[in-house]
Amino acid sequence: MTEGGSELPRAVAKLQALIRIPTVSYREPGRVDTAAFDAFVDELARQFPLLHERLELTRVHTHGLLFHWPGARSERPVVLMAHLDVVPVEGSWQHDAFSGDVADGSIWGRGTLDDKGSLVGICEAVETLLERELTPAQDLWLSFGCDEEVFGTAAERAVAELEQRGVRPWFVVDEGGAIAHDAFPGIDRPVGVVGVTEKGIMSVLLRVEGRGGHASTPARMGPTARLARAITRLDRSPMPASLPAPTVELFRRLAPHAPLPLRPLMANAGRLGPALARLLTALGPESAAMARTTFAVTTLSGSPALNVIAQTASAGVNIRIMLGDTSQTVLAHVRKAIGDDRVGIEVVEAYEPSPLSPYSTVDTVDDAFELIATTISEVFPDAVPAPYVMMAATDSRSFSPICDRVYRFAPFRMTKAQREAIHSYDEHLGVDDFLDGVRWYQRLIERLT
Ligand SMILES: [Zn+2]
Repeated sequence: MTEGGSELPRAVAKLQALIRIPTVSYREPGRVDTAAFDAFVDELARQFPLLHERLELTRVHTHGLLFHWPGARSERPVVLMAHLDVVPVEGSWQHDAFSGDVADGSIWGRGTLDDKGSLVGICEAVETLLERELTPAQDLWLSFGCDEEVFGTAAERAVAELEQRGVRPWFVVDEGGAIAHDAFPGIDRPVGVVGVTEKGIMSVLLRVEGRGGHASTPARMGPTARLARAITRLDRSPMPASLPAPTVELFRRLAPHAPLPLRPLMANAGRLGPALARLLTALGPESAAMARTTFAVTTLSGSPALNVIAQTASAGVNIRIMLGDTSQTVLAHVRKAIGDDRVGIEVVEAYEPSPLSPYSTVDTVDDAFELIATTISEVFPDAVPAPYVMMAATDSRSFSPICDRVYRFAPFRMTKAQREAIHSYDEHLGVDDFLDGVRWYQRLIERLT
């Protein structure tokens, strides 16, 4: 891959053009630059003329796009997803966040990994196949959300549209996993992690009321102290750890590539579940999150003035619910851990963990998962394809009511540093890695039967 003088592949130029349009999502609709979203939709049409000519487009919500590419048959329709919005820019970047610069073998900018790389990758694959006059074996739908980053409703509305048309997808592929390099200590092979479920999300507000008053005459155990005690109690009472089934399968697949002493442990993860789960919780926050429901106290407030005792003290707790737990069991745990009736617990939002999508194991083969896994092996021969539990939330959870197989995977190689750049600064995607991703989407469509 050369830079500067010689010509970049056309797919790269298309991604650059779309990265340069700042489609930033905000929870407050008034802050959203709708002109940028309009420009993005127009630019997409310019960059992918054949796709826009041949596929039927339904506009969803404000700027959501649902494309339909009729296949030779329609009994096993497939949905490829991505989103066109991005999170706001923060931190200081080596290359401006909306520059789309190509430097050091990478395309730089907000959205390269999350999630315009996938969006452009899907469109380029479709455009190329249309040029070759391919008709997919099955109906293909492209569902591009416009408000994923703010938990918007575009994906739900796309699902409603599909439901109305009687479409029950065979499987859905959305962002989530990746070809993850240096994901597990001691394992030198990249892992093609395919999310088969995602953790649930719940936010609760802890609140303690009191009399307030002057700071010169404080009473014992005022609202702030009581709240602090509740927080430390919660912090000291993590939920029990366990090894969910997809993680057992992930370990089994990684075992042959693990350092010798670890191999039997990982290969027998199913039997050693409880011991391994405890080990994971001891290895650090990232691995602990793989094994249990987590609590993070995020917001804190008390009195507005230094010399005034708080009448109300409150703390927001963001909870990620593990497969196997529910918002109800988690709430019961929080109540018991705090053990204080004077601490009010209000549920602000609650989304249960998403249903588990089927995957292949030693004993079972799932055709859809196999298709994704073999396409990973074909395009990324060094990678080990494996199911996993996703920690973050994606738009694809909206598809669970109409589809049993929701897979979360973006076909791009990502280092640890790249994964950390998502929602942070210096987000970038390798040029060759982007082109491999385009090839992955193309192969996936070609392999449909
Ligand atoms: Zn995303």
